Amino acid sequence: MQHVHDIRTMRRERNKNSNAVIGLVPTMGFLHEGHLSLVEKARNECDRVVMSLFINPLQFGPDEDYDRYPRDWDRDVALAEKAGVDVLFAPDASEMFPETLLTNINVSSISDVLCGRSRPGHFDGVCTIVMKLLQIIDPDTVYFGQKDAQQVAVIHKMVKDLNVDTNVTTCPIIREGDGLAKSSRNVYLTDEERKQAVILYETLQNTRRKIENEHWRRTEAIRKEMIRSIERMPLAKVEYAEVLTYPELKPILTIEHQRILLALAVHFGKARLIDNEILEVEG
Ligand code: AMP
Repeated sequence: MQHVHDIRTMRRERNKNSNAVIGLVPTMGFLHEGHLSLVEKARNECDRVVMSLFINPLQFGPDEDYDRYPRDWDRDVALAEKAGVDVLFAPDASEMFPETLLTNINVSSISDVLCGRSRPGHFDGVCTIVMKLLQIIDPDTVYFGQKDAQQVAVIHKMVKDLNVDTNVTTCPIIREGDGLAKSSRNVYLTDEERKQAVILYETLQNTRRKIENEHWRRTEAIRKEMIRSIERMPLAKVEYAEVLTYPELKPILTIEHQRILLALAVHFGKARLIDNEILEVEG
């Protein structure tokens, strides 16, 4: 596996392999099986896999965890290598931002709900960095996890609106044995918080059953029931529990024949956890 830290070398690498099908897996490191599942998918579909590892300051708010975001370079290198990554692109911030950035990519409306409401500017930061990575690496396909369902919707829209010549592929959510979605931020959980955190998955599965088997259709009742279910855990603080259309992320009063997103953001102590479920509802 090649380590690349600068943009010029990354571009040279791409040009040397101009006929190869290139897959890009963007990450912020502290790798787990979720990230590695994206690599596996890319390995199956592409000739060469580039993983970017960059903790993107643009997507963190001033009071968020940029400074304490978990990092483990040696472990990440070993895991990426074992997973079959060909090029690990890990620039530092001065390489990505040699001067003040005056450009910002904003996908309006769908960036302003869910995580975008509580993290203003977050998706501008995501879009701007992803666009830079697409410009530098020029992949045929870029791989994202459904774990960040809103991110996937926003990136899809950006790529479509700006005619970016890259496919966007979404991979399923990888979970721990008890259902907790894998996340680099799970290390913030204390033992007790970790036990209670399984409530996100349980709530999503119970809600899915209520919609599919018991034909629950009124979104306000579903939202309230999700909040009630999560708040049974004494350490949980619900940030949002929403039912929206997907990928348009529009609110609805009643679920009809459509694809919907059940989305949760819940705080447990220092950890902010998100999880979701996408359902195709038949009438
Ligand atoms: P991150 O390093 O958290 O920015 O995540 C990098 C990529 O891995 C994003 O596309 C995430 O959606 C994806 N990802 C993170 N956790 C999971 C998971 N549990 N299952 C699948 N994909 C994931």
